[in-house]
Amino acid sequence: MRLTTLLDTLDSGGSAIQSGAATGYTLEDERAQFDRVISELIPCRVNDSELWFAEQGAQVEQAKALCRSCPLMEGCLAGAIDRAEPWGVWGGQVFIDGVVVATKRGRGRPRKDATHAA
Ligand code: SF4
Repeated sequence: MRLTTLLDTLDSGGSAIQSGAATGYTLEDERAQFDRVISELIPCRVNDSELWFAEQGAQVEQAKALCRSCPLMEGCLAGAIDRAEPWGVWGGQVFIDGVVVATKRGRGRPRKDATHAA
């Protein structure tokens, strides 16, 4: 079931899950199933969570790309900014020491190349 369909159904007072005496489902069953459905749509819950705290730039970019498909991206980013997250990828952005940075620099000294030589 698509998230928008699920949310529309719930918003109109319906249930996305067959429930009631006929099925034996309880409200707790519905909540658990709803949480499962939502969890399956959240990339950092279904992929290796280490990606969101990786050191390697390619892995960080992969986490950022996965965040872009997340239905919670906007709220996740707002929450991370409010909490001044010290580390990791949140809402598709890289946080270091509580602030969003454009790119994550790898460990060690910066490479010497022509663009930085002066
Ligand atoms: S936007 Fe937030 S909740 Fe969604 S995948 Fe990224 S870190 Fe996880």
